[in-house]
Amino acid sequence: MAKMQKAIIYKGPGKFAYEERPIPEIKDKNDVKIKSYGCSICGTDVNIFATPQRHPCKPDIIFGHEFCGEVVEVGENVTSVKPGDKVVIDPHGPCGECENCLAGLPEACKNIISRGVFADGGLTEYVVLPKQYCYKVAPETKPEFMGVAEPLAGCGCALEKLNVHVGDTAAVLGAGPIGLMFIALLKANGCRKIIVSEPIEHRRKLALEVGATRVVNPEEEDLVAIVKEETDGLGADVAVEAVAAMLVDCIYLVRPHGKILQFGHDELTHPEFPVAELLKNEIEVYGGYLGKYYMRKVAQIIESGILPLDKIVTDVIPASRYQEALDLAASKQCGKVFVAIDF
Ligand SMILES: [Zn+2]
Ligand SMILES: [Zn+2]
Repeated sequence: MAKMQKAIIYKGPGKFAYEERPIPEIKDKNDVKIKSYGCSICGTDVNIFATPQRHPCKPDIIFGHEFCGEVVEVGENVTSVKPGDKVVIDPHGPCGECENCLAGLPEACKNIISRGVFADGGLTEYVVLPKQYCYKVAPETKPEFMGVAEPLAGCGCALEKLNVHVGDTAAVLGAGPIGLMFIALLKANGCRKIIVSEPIEHRRKLALEVGATRVVNPEEEDLVAIVKEETDGLGADVAVEAVAAMLVDCIYLVRPHGKILQFGHDELTHPEFPVAELLKNEIEVYGGYLGKYYMRKVAQIIESGILPLDKIVTDVIPASRYQEALDLAASKQCGKVFVAIDF
């Protein structure tokens, strides 16, 4: 009989359980076996466990998609990583074989399986993955920083669409973990003003620590007026929506010909849209989601230390206390929460 390992299993809306699952073995020449360090909690995870459920998930899978770990064994065709290497993981790795992958469009891979949402993920001891899911980082990289790879890749890849330049001005709506990553990236890209709207005081403080030049409590202050005041009456060059329901607000925050990025993700959000404002100001709106192209770069960004990940990752909680970690993430009194495997 196969050897067993402990895992956190998604059991349907609002529920998870600790169960035993077989330790997976390498089956393909391109497989990599990883000892999981753990997994960050994503807003998607919070939405999956919310009532009503705000994101779908397949029951009875090993949960957790933002995982990372150490290579323990590789298939005979694998040369990109070796046992002992630390790797960040793209849980939505492309197949590498379909028409879109072969055409250089892995984002549009026809065979994507999101591990940790629709197939077995990383909240367990060992995981076996194809080599194209795994990206090596320097040996001294901390596991809790490696855990931000998947969301940071999505943010970094999406931000490239806005073509931000040194000296630009930006408005960021929301300073949850994703908002904090955008603030840090905008800072690293040379924005001279980063105005951040966030109702939770603790998160406004984190926003200032990672690079915001001004924070606004939208429940007490006039965000549009403040952004105008900070940008000589013009509006910001770019606005990043990192909440889910505030795309319409962004329309009033950017200058004519400004750019908006919708990144906040909530399957139940359907805002009404001021079409005339959009067209009269010739605003460009982009969507951002996954960051497959960007995984190599994100591994390099994480190991380089150019982003203040020590401020973005605020809590490390052992997997044996997973409910506590989920409750903390749902409470929003935190930045990124990393769940470390302790079994
Ligand atoms: Zn995620
Ligand atoms: Zn493919």
